[in-house]
Amino acid sequence: MSETSVCLLGATGSIGCSAIDVIKQHKGRFSLHSVAASSNVQKMAEISHEFPNAKLALFNENSALELQKITGKPVLAGMAGLLELVSSSDCNLVLNGLTGSVGCEPTLKAIEHGKKIALANKETLVMAGTIIKQALKKNPASQITPVDSEHNAIFQCLAGRGASEVETLQITASGGPFREWPAEKFPEITLKDALNHPVWSMGKKITIDSASMMNKGLEVIEAHFLFDIPYEHIKVVVHPQSLVHSLVQFRDGSLMAQLGAPDMRIPILNAMAFPERLSLKTNRLNLPEIQKLTFFEPNLEKFPCLALAYEAGKAGGTRAAVLNAANEILANAFIQEKISFTSIPKGIEHCLKKIEEQSGELSLEKILSADSCSRKEAEKFVENLC
Ligand code: MG
Repeated sequence: MSETSVCLLGATGSIGCSAIDVIKQHKGRFSLHSVAASSNVQKMAEISHEFPNAKLALFNENSALELQKITGKPVLAGMAGLLELVSSSDCNLVLNGLTGSVGCEPTLKAIEHGKKIALANKETLVMAGTIIKQALKKNPASQITPVDSEHNAIFQCLAGRGASEVETLQITASGGPFREWPAEKFPEITLKDALNHPVWSMGKKITIDSASMMNKGLEVIEAHFLFDIPYEHIKVVVHPQSLVHSLVQFRDGSLMAQLGAPDMRIPILNAMAFPERLSLKTNRLNLPEIQKLTFFEPNLEKFPCLALAYEAGKAGGTRAAVLNAANEILANAFIQEKISFTSIPKGIEHCLKKIEEQSGELSLEKILSADSCSRKEAEKFVENLC
């Protein structure tokens, strides 16, 4: 197999760090074509020192100038910089590990250039699933392999089988730190409580999304678009050990699951190397030691974000983009300790009611405009609470 030249977006985040470790474990099979991030200059400088041939881009223009000064190398800036990297003819795999809606346009550009994409940025599909699917149809050379652990598990269980053979997708959720908290204690939840995820160590925004279960809601929408399964046939199952990463119930009664240590390097390598399976130095599960795996129904009353995501997904159009944008603002306001935990779903519901669906055919412009209206509305909602 020839060397795969990887463009790594979101290089300084937790997906990016795991991806770099995977690349280091497979030198000669993967090389780093380029790295991009939002604004972390220090970490980018370290990566550039370790991988001197990797091209550089930062979304934040001031940070890009700073990195250029530190490294003495050219640094591309802004969305244009990210788009230039993903469309380079000498890169053959784009790993999109960006956080938030900023990841959407680079995915679309990579599809247009026929790239293979290992996709960790779930907002791409949540916001623009319909557009992404149209683009994939137009550019059959491009292919998306999912990195999100649940979707990568489903991808592995499906092993190429189509939607017609599937009864349900069952997405597992750890349930987050508040699974056993009574509903009446939810208004008292602090940032520290919410950042204390029982299993996974991740970025702040996704940890808050896990605590509110919005992360699972976004994943339901992501799964709908990735695997062409109607929302009615996508279930969420709470599984606190996070060792079964998701399951597929086939129509013949077989229920397939994918298990593994909760280590993102496993789905990252799987998505990067597909259809090959390469070796990986990581923990193996010892089933007799684990003894028990438990499963529960999710509690939609305690976690209204999950119900809101199902509703927005089913409604289609720009609804999921509105939900996602509002959630980004509200989750960040909670991280800055401006609003309470229970204000997150309230604010999202407010934005979904306030921002009306525009008629006519869905386009990227329409989606981006719904995204920006929703952000403004959510910011107003936060201001009114402060
Ligand atoms: Mg996930």
